[in-house]
Amino acid sequence: MGFHVTNMQLNTLFQTWQTNYQIYAPRNFSGGGRFSDTDCIRYGTIDHVEEIVFDKKSDYSFKEVLNPISQTLFFFTEGETREADGPQKGAVIFLRSCDLHALRRLDDMYLNNGPADYYYQRLRKNLKVVLMGCDHSFDNCFCVSMGTNESTNYDMSIDLQPDGTYLVDCRDPEWNSQLETASSEQLEVIPAHVTENHTQVHIPENLTADVARSGMWKEYDSRCINCGRCNFVCPTCTCFTMQDLYYSENGKVGERRRVWASCMVDGFTDVAGGGSYRKKNGERMRFKVLHKVLDYKQRNGYHMCVGCGRCDDICPEYISFSNCINKLQNAMTEVSGS
Ligand code: SF4
Ligand code: SF4
Repeated sequence: MGFHVTNMQLNTLFQTWQTNYQIYAPRNFSGGGRFSDTDCIRYGTIDHVEEIVFDKKSDYSFKEVLNPISQTLFFFTEGETREADGPQKGAVIFLRSCDLHALRRLDDMYLNNGPADYYYQRLRKNLKVVLMGCDHSFDNCFCVSMGTNESTNYDMSIDLQPDGTYLVDCRDPEWNSQLETASSEQLEVIPAHVTENHTQVHIPENLTADVARSGMWKEYDSRCINCGRCNFVCPTCTCFTMQDLYYSENGKVGERRRVWASCMVDGFTDVAGGGSYRKKNGERMRFKVLHKVLDYKQRNGYHMCVGCGRCDDICPEYISFSNCINKLQNAMTEVSGS
């Protein structure tokens, strides 16, 4: 059911949500940017709808809500372990369409790829999604090429109108009745979505792992500085490492954490015996790109990349992931010799 609502009416709804949920949305962190006196837009808890940033793409994705940068899993002493406290409340999260598609990818990786990940599952099972409509495409977005520009599996949608009011489409029965009481106007609402992006990509139909033999990857040996930023902003990069933090000198009391990791940084492929795979940055770029647009699809039937363009936005060396995808056709021709 669709409604036309004011910020006051939405804030009243938010108050009722906060009994059982934390509300997460892209908001401005003043002074939190990469350079001095610059801001950062990332996910954080909010109390009021006015805190949500609608007119810019978030620099970082929502994934840190479900997959924290550093998460204590359990505490240990010499004779026992104790699970770290779980979340006290569920979460309502505001996502754009590309990120809602990314949530499906996280679910398939953490819940449907063998035994479910316990820590992800306990956060995920009490999650509600509010879709943020996109009335225009942002820089570097290529969601249309990736088929992620539209979403229907939301609990509520929200579109900010030029006059500062909001159009929402609500599918949650409880929220619906609250909105029916609060809103003076009911109407049909279709969430805004883009139908074209300036940036487009073409993933060749004949793409195979043979493209690994192309010379195209060498360019990244020197251009990429293996900072890992592209992984950290990506809503579908989920790799982590384990760290044991010891409180005592005998090393028998402490906590185990899982912490984000990046396939682009040194040490990611280190193995026992001093071995290390993918030492060159071009090899790491090749691994990342083909995971996003080739082998993940072979397992799951759809591409891992959702075309949010954040990796292009953040790269300090101006390396474009979308340009890289668009080089794959020529690279396939190169390696197939035709
Ligand atoms: S952000 Fe750019 S420079 Fe940094 S690891 Fe990724 S591709 Fe390389
Ligand atoms: S690879 Fe880049 S464009 Fe694709 S989902 Fe990750 S950050 Fe977004």
